[in-house]
Amino acid sequence: MTDPQQRTVVVTGGSRGIGKAICLELADPQTHLFFNYHSQEAAAAETERQIVAAGGKATGIQTDVAKADEVEAFFDRVIKQTGRLDVLVNNAGISRDNLLVRMKEQDWDAVLDINLKAAFLCAKSAAKSMMKQRYGRIVFISSVVGAIGNPGQANYAASKAGLIGLAKSMARELASRGITVNAVAPGLIDTDMTAALPDKAKDAMVGLIPLGRPGTPEDVAATVAFLVSDKASYITGQVLHVSGGMYM
Ligand code: NAP
Repeated sequence: MTDPQQRTVVVTGGSRGIGKAICLELADPQTHLFFNYHSQEAAAAETERQIVAAGGKATGIQTDVAKADEVEAFFDRVIKQTGRLDVLVNNAGISRDNLLVRMKEQDWDAVLDINLKAAFLCAKSAAKSMMKQRYGRIVFISSVVGAIGNPGQANYAASKAGLIGLAKSMARELASRGITVNAVAPGLIDTDMTAALPDKAKDAMVGLIPLGRPGTPEDVAATVAFLVSDKASYITGQVLHVSGGMYM
């Protein structure tokens, strides 16, 4: 028997950056947060510690989200342990930037596998449980780049645009089962992913942001929290840009 007062949440890529901020934003005594990570075990342990400090339950599991068997084992464990799945946030992602003519096939494949195929695998597993419950909230972390493109990021932009098509199709398929599916499209957010950008490139990007600053992981997390809350129960198939106005 599951307790209706308990909520089970899955966040992919919860060890660092935006995923960690989402975990902490959603942590509360009613919530069991499952998150996965790829290799940063110490960072994952720290996310677990902070979720527990916020009064929540936390389980961080090493899982390569691009591998179907690992994803299946992850979701089996979630269902076995809690008997339900209320929220999925597909956040795990990577970038492998280069100009198109120099882009290696491996870098195209790695980005599409981790950013897009993995989101399909996770969403498919989650949808099966949510359909039985006739309730669910799914959020994909896309990017402003999926809407406007970016030189040097053809693979990344294609994967993030793909997530928007995936979210809208799933929203139409699952609406009758009480499941909403939306995408959040962050702009330039201060995380490890953007720390590697040269200052010149970052300054040029900030110049394109009407609000005049990069965003924080917490800016994105607050938007996700809204979309998975009851207050957003009439919102599905939407892309919410959190980019300081970079895209409008
Ligand atoms: P980040 O700091 O680099 O963190 C990436 C997270 O994804 C980590 O938890 C990492 O785990 C996990 N991950 C990577 N590959 C994985 C795999 N194969 N299997 C499981 N987990 C994996 O990135 P971020 O900036 O927070 O970005 C989070 C999401 O927001 C990404 O989808 C990114 O594309 C999107 N986004 C970011 C920005 C930005 O400006 N930062 C803007 C728009 C969209 P480990 O810690 O174990 O490596």
